[in-house]
Amino acid sequence: MLEKCEGIVLRTNDYGETNKIVTMLTREKGKRGAVARGAKKTNSRLSGVTQPFTHGYFLVQGGRGLGTMQQGETLDSMRHIREDLVKTAYAAYIVEMTDRTTEDGEGGAPLFELVRKSLVYINEGMDPAIVTNIFEMKMLAHVGLRPELSSCAVCGETEGRFGFSIRENGLICHRCFDKDPYYLPLSPAAIRLLRLFYFFDLDRLGSIDVKESTKKELRSAISMYYDEYAGLFLKSRRFLEQMERFENAFKKDEADD
Ligand SMILES: [Zn+2]
Repeated sequence: MLEKCEGIVLRTNDYGETNKIVTMLTREKGKRGAVARGAKKTNSRLSGVTQPFTHGYFLVQGGRGLGTMQQGETLDSMRHIREDLVKTAYAAYIVEMTDRTTEDGEGGAPLFELVRKSLVYINEGMDPAIVTNIFEMKMLAHVGLRPELSSCAVCGETEGRFGFSIRENGLICHRCFDKDPYYLPLSPAAIRLLRLFYFFDLDRLGSIDVKESTKKELRSAISMYYDEYAGLFLKSRRFLEQMERFENAFKKDEADD
């Protein structure tokens, strides 16, 4: 059976001297793998279309399990991501998280669109750290996590100062801070963005300009939450953290000049 699907390349693994096993997230069939024969050779017609992050149409032979990729047509090579180390690092995190949290045959059009749009935004030059934060907030539902972000997780109040509580699974208001001594204090700007990223429609993303200090708050709240509840250890995340530390050190040097 020959099937045409629209997919994004999440990962490739070498298979023999010249072949690759390509793991894709497809719009129609969720995550699936296919052998791309000869794709490791640079002159192969499958070599370009099987690069990580590529969005394309794929013609796959075979039913369940690993199929064989017969043809591929690139819709978007995400060239600007590939040309930039920082963008690549964030994009690698997005596709690795997608891969690790999705079983074969799982996924579906909403997840496909989330991954595709996130990569497109990074490719088009939007702040990759912010796009990644939005992706992470939108992925919470996919990994089965539902933090309370619309009101205080303890008393239900919607007014007041707020912080983030791992223990209470969401925002808590200043009246309830004593319920969790380890709550993370957050600025009103960070609270507003966490809510925005969680609830709004990704299509409506305009330009977002976020202060460095707010970015740091978002990073720590989201990472803390994922660390506690998702149990994911992603290679790309460690690389991202090293890179962010390096960038921050560099920025500090500039400020000192
Ligand atoms: Zn409260």
